[in-house]
Amino acid sequence: MKVKLLPKYRMGIHTYSLSLDRNIRIDDADIGQVSHRGQTIKIWTDAPLSMKNETLVHEVIEIGKFMYRVQIDDADIDRVAECVCEFLMNNLGIEFDWSDIPQDIK
Ligand SMILES: [Zn+2]
Repeated sequence: MKVKLLPKYRMGIHTYSLSLDRNIRIDDADIGQVSHRGQTIKIWTDAPLSMKNETLVHEVIEIGKFMYRVQIDDADIDRVAECVCEFLMNNLGIEFDWSDIPQDIK
């Protein structure tokens, strides 16, 4: 089952925008980035689909960590994100559809 990703997500009282960015890998060696100040989630455009999906879940957990002051390190966020993706994608057959997510131009 395909689930169309939305360009904006309401998280608590905050609204985060999701976009693809071709340069974050080159500029910052990142696959994904979340900015709480800018309320943005950026995912590397050219990442393989499975990596994009896992990174999006990772960044959403980062938002929860920030909002609720959860104590969890980045490696554990990766493991939790991988586990959530395994459940959603391998067991429930959910696929994220990125077609409506804008591409940042810079
Ligand atoms: Zn992280």
